[in-house]
Amino acid sequence: METVSCCVCQEPLAGNAPHLGNRAYCAEHWAKLSQTRGSVWRSGVIYVVAVALFALAAALLLRSLQPQLSQGGLMVAGVALALVPAALWLAFFYLQDRLEPEPKGYVLGVFVLGALLAAAVSIPLMRNLFSVQDWLGQSLLVDLLGSILIVGFIQEFLKYAAVRYSVFNSAEFDERLDGVLYGTAAGLGFATALNIYYVVSSGGVNLSMAAIQVTVTALAQASFAGITGYFLGRAKFEEEPVWWLAAGLTLAATLNGVFHVLLGNLVRSGSALSGQTINPWLGLILATVLAAASLAVILGLMRRASRLTLAGADMA
Ligand SMILES: [Zn+2]
Repeated sequence: METVSCCVCQEPLAGNAPHLGNRAYCAEHWAKLSQTRGSVWRSGVIYVVAVALFALAAALLLRSLQPQLSQGGLMVAGVALALVPAALWLAFFYLQDRLEPEPKGYVLGVFVLGALLAAAVSIPLMRNLFSVQDWLGQSLLVDLLGSILIVGFIQEFLKYAAVRYSVFNSAEFDERLDGVLYGTAAGLGFATALNIYYVVSSGGVNLSMAAIQVTVTALAQASFAGITGYFLGRAKFEEEPVWWLAAGLTLAATLNGVFHVLLGNLVRSGSALSGQTINPWLGLILATVLAAASLAVILGLMRRASRLTLAGADMA
């Protein structure tokens, strides 16, 4: 006799259990598959606005106060700023998650894995192997190709790997939304390591500028990883074509590259117009729009996927 089991928890099932393609689901995991959790999306939007306002307020405050700190003091304050976007997200996540708990250890674990991959693989590869600091930005075409094919693909692959080869195969990854959640955690971990590197390597930063810079990096890296996570979430629970994950990664890498070229050009043109060394405000606006738009598009696609799941179940 053929035995059927839930593709998430492996619980044995009766032959008439709901299924998508070849994957069967128990009642609990079938229900999870088709929910969209409006509260999660609301928190996401509130988070994006909150972190952007934090950056704005911190930058203005630091610029008017002009704190006189030693180089060590600047470093400590800069590292503290670098931790704020991730700390704020984790706080939102823990408050939100009291309703429908996700295992905290996994979320934190993926966050740390993202940070480790950035520090141990991404940064050394970019600086020492590809030396992108020496040739990116020479012309628009070189900038665009290098930013997508090297920076974009390496960064997005590492964040993808932090989810795909860890929590993805566990029973805790039990709804499509988990892809976006763990992707975002990996992206914020990755961004936090990049931000700490930026502060430490510049040896005492302009704090007002750093408040904006770390927030731009966090919002952007989390958005790209959230998009890859959406593709991962659907790949686990639905029958997707073989190119599905590669398409997700390519989309994230392309957005990553285009964003950085756009950011570089906005900052440069801003400096030409205003006479300042750099103009980070446009970067903050760009990153906030990117994060909000990513959330909106992913939410729309998730709702559509859930509707199709329910429609399919009705026909069975
Ligand atoms: Zn199950």
